[in-house]
Amino acid sequence: MTHPLIELHDVTRYYGAGDTEVRALDGVSLTIEPSEFVAIVGQSGSGKSTLMNILGCLDRPTGGSYRVRGQDVSALDPDELAAMRRQTFGFIFQRYNLLASVSASENVELPAVYAGLSLQERRDKAAELLERLGLGERIDHKPGQLSGGQQQRVAVARALVNDAEVILADEPTGALDSGSSAELLNLLESLHESGRTIILITHDLNVAQRAKRVIEIHDGKIISDSGVSPHKAEGADGYRYTRKGPSPIVQVIESVKMAFRSLRANLFRTALTLLGVVIGVAAVVAMLAIGQGSQKEVMARFESMGANLLFVRPGAPGTRMRGDAIATLTLDDARALKELDNVLAVVPSRSGSATFRIGNNDYRSSVEGVSEDWTIAQNRGLKYGSFFTAEDSERRVGVVVLGTTTAGNLFDNVEGAVGQYVFLGGAPFEVAGILEERGASSWGQDQDDVALVPITTGMMRIFGQNYLSSITIAVDDTDKIADTETEATNLLLARHGVEDFQLRNTASILESVQQTQNSFSILLGSVASISLLVGGIGVMNIMLVSVSERTREIGVRMATGARRSDILTQFVVEALVVGGLGGIAGVLIGVGVCFILMQVGMTIAITPTPAILAFASALATGLVFGLLPARKASRLDPVAALASE
Ligand code: ADP
Ligand code: MG
Repeated sequence: MTHPLIELHDVTRYYGAGDTEVRALDGVSLTIEPSEFVAIVGQSGSGKSTLMNILGCLDRPTGGSYRVRGQDVSALDPDELAAMRRQTFGFIFQRYNLLASVSASENVELPAVYAGLSLQERRDKAAELLERLGLGERIDHKPGQLSGGQQQRVAVARALVNDAEVILADEPTGALDSGSSAELLNLLESLHESGRTIILITHDLNVAQRAKRVIEIHDGKIISDSGVSPHKAEGADGYRYTRKGPSPIVQVIESVKMAFRSLRANLFRTALTLLGVVIGVAAVVAMLAIGQGSQKEVMARFESMGANLLFVRPGAPGTRMRGDAIATLTLDDARALKELDNVLAVVPSRSGSATFRIGNNDYRSSVEGVSEDWTIAQNRGLKYGSFFTAEDSERRVGVVVLGTTTAGNLFDNVEGAVGQYVFLGGAPFEVAGILEERGASSWGQDQDDVALVPITTGMMRIFGQNYLSSITIAVDDTDKIADTETEATNLLLARHGVEDFQLRNTASILESVQQTQNSFSILLGSVASISLLVGGIGVMNIMLVSVSERTREIGVRMATGARRSDILTQFVVEALVVGGLGGIAGVLIGVGVCFILMQVGMTIAITPTPAILAFASALATGLVFGLLPARKASRLDPVAALASE
């Protein structure tokens, strides 16, 4: 069977309740057939707009029933209502209600976006419509660059883009001069002639005369109806609506486009609000790179030493004084340690500085007194000559072993240096050998800038001290290093009677470095999360402001067929774009800071992980803090949103 296109039965719409109740519509029954041209007239406040909002499915009646092609509208959920608006109705408002930030063409395309048309289809359709309405030259103009009449024609094109069967026009000429009004009415008339149903609301009887049927409304009641124009009336088939909207991809692409537009419109405000996110992300990226850099440096230092070493330093645990100022470790301690099981080498050491002299050449550098075990503990051989022997140490012979840098500073020919004499602190030392080259260590120290003498000779001739600044023990079997450490501790305790030394192994030193590193990371993490939190509140703030500033835009989108999920997606994507931009800016600034620090010589390890994590948390911040404003936007009532300033 066929149904009327539009069928209202005893429809009421009350606002408020109790004493303040307003009966905007009070028992309206009305049937409109396809292809009618109806004018609804009445004084201001008589309920015309309320009626139109109900007809256009922007609002629901308080009572009575409303059917579109036989479909009871009260049975539809919000998404189905959106589909109904999109497919059946095209709205023209008194104040045009175009989106100010987008072009004429994009305004016309809006309902088609929500209908899921492709970009090309949309463009073509909008261009064709605007061309037909005489706006072919104005396709890319923004609403602000168009006259009122032109803006209203853009609105007409927008109402037509989805081939809506019913055009609902609420006081469409209200803001137009008489010339533009006449043009618009001609346009509506020709649309009627091409078969569309036009429902025109006006308080102007001259305008109403143009319609084929005039319905007068007063205080929410129909007081006269010129009746269905008989010639065109024909029934419509049962209504078929689809839930189909734009695909998620189209939704997201459109939302990203809109997000950039609205950000551009509020660049400064957005930038300021984003500072929190930017600082948080930059801090994470830069500080982690610095932290990892220093950790890497320390690790490399210990790795180059080997994992089989134990270090003994003078002074009770916790002492802050410099090791070589404390007189507790002696050569006899070193000799005793050498007798322990699993000990490969023991290197007592003390360093000081001395004047090197050859002929009239003076050169001041540091000298280290060590034992003949040094090559074993350091795992380092000789380039020329040989290292001094245990016998040399015993007899306190004046011999020195040089690194290539030191040798190069003293002699023209490094190889020929072996066997030559250098004066160190006034005493002659024979160059016994030249160490094999190591180059710069990972922390930048030249490992070839060394001069080694037997510690016994050094104590007598150079340092003027009989105490050691450290003893390095190399163990044979690394698995038993803990046992050896205990034995060494017990031995030294027995010898000294008190714990006036500190014994550590490479592993425990590494551990403490890592511990420092971890507490650094925790500190960093809390700084970062606080600034992300502050940034997130900022994001929420701009999004809430954005939603209230753009309430009308949201209303327009809903009237043109946006579903709640379309609006939700739009604002969530906007928040994500805000967070993402903050993340990118933060990463760039963080990396920039790293490069500057690298230029001034700091060890920095830039790795992708912190940057990715920080960026992801910026995005997450946007998402979490954008959800509430987006939800708020999607829950707006279309009528209220459209009425907002
Ligand atoms: P018209 O469009 O004919 O000027 P309206 O439909 O806008 O009239 O309003 C009809 C009546 O309902 C008026 O008395 C108006 O004050 C009232 N009204 C409209 N919208 C609301 C609302 N949101 N809340 C309360 N009263 C309203
Ligand atoms: Mg009105």
